[in-house]
Amino acid sequence: MPELPEVEVVRAGLERHVLGSTITRVDVLHPRPVRRDLRGPAGFAEALAGRRIEAARRRGKYLWLPLDNGDALLGHLGMSGQLLVQRPDAPDERHLRVRLALDDTAKEVRFVDQRMFGGLSVSAGGAELPPEIAHIARDPLDPEFDDEEFVRRVRRRASAVKRQLLDQNLVSGVGNIYADEALWRARIHGERPGERLTAKQVRELLGHAREVMLAALGEGGTSFDALYVNVNGESGYFDRSLHAYGREGEPCERCGTPMRRIGFMNRSSYFCPVCQPAPRRRRVPAVAPAGAPVPD
Ligand SMILES: [Zn+2]
Repeated sequence: MPELPEVEVVRAGLERHVLGSTITRVDVLHPRPVRRDLRGPAGFAEALAGRRIEAARRRGKYLWLPLDNGDALLGHLGMSGQLLVQRPDAPDERHLRVRLALDDTAKEVRFVDQRMFGGLSVSAGGAELPPEIAHIARDPLDPEFDDEEFVRRVRRRASAVKRQLLDQNLVSGVGNIYADEALWRARIHGERPGERLTAKQVRELLGHAREVMLAALGEGGTSFDALYVNVNGESGYFDRSLHAYGREGEPCERCGTPMRRIGFMNRSSYFCPVCQPAPRRRRVPAVAPAGAPVPD
């Protein structure tokens, strides 16, 4: 699944290659990726034809291209989506779903998606910020992200700190992998309640999340230019070094203890049981009176 740094690489690539171009024709080759557009495939195509692309923006893992009429082309890569800038004579990808032909005849934009959880839609009046995604929080790489407000909100909630890192209404773009890496670096167990952390701990955790994401962005950023006609959202995804994620049973790189994996929110959490001690449970009486309710 493309994570935020990969999506940022795609945004920057689109900004570089299609800014100022006018969409001349749209081919919807499969209806599913445009299902969120209530006009249907033909209406979707019609709403885009003749529009000039003014910018390439991002909020969390959503991308949008503001158009010259105040609308926007809104996109999400889902699990397997790719937005490619291709030469028009390049062979179609096997899972090509939508093609945007441009007045710059050396290039076209292609939406390729095998599993089709992602998609495209036209957001009416969405050039500045599509209303469909206005509820999504900024991400830690956004210059306008408010660190201190994030720290305050995390510490107001009893909810597990990892759950909060993955909450798109609080902070966007921190996927499961980055959350585990940031927690390992900060030596914090993901199940610790936000309200039990100090402001310093939450600040450090956020700093680590940002560093991990920036490092991934650095790797992906070089990939976009190198590939150009074959850009995709997964560049550099697996070759960055991971200290926690996917390392079950391998020694912690800090203390040598075998790393552990537990299920969390239908996914996996990887952590060091020594560097990242589990939260203390409420004390249970050694001998409970017969018939007494068991404390949770
Ligand atoms: Zn350790």
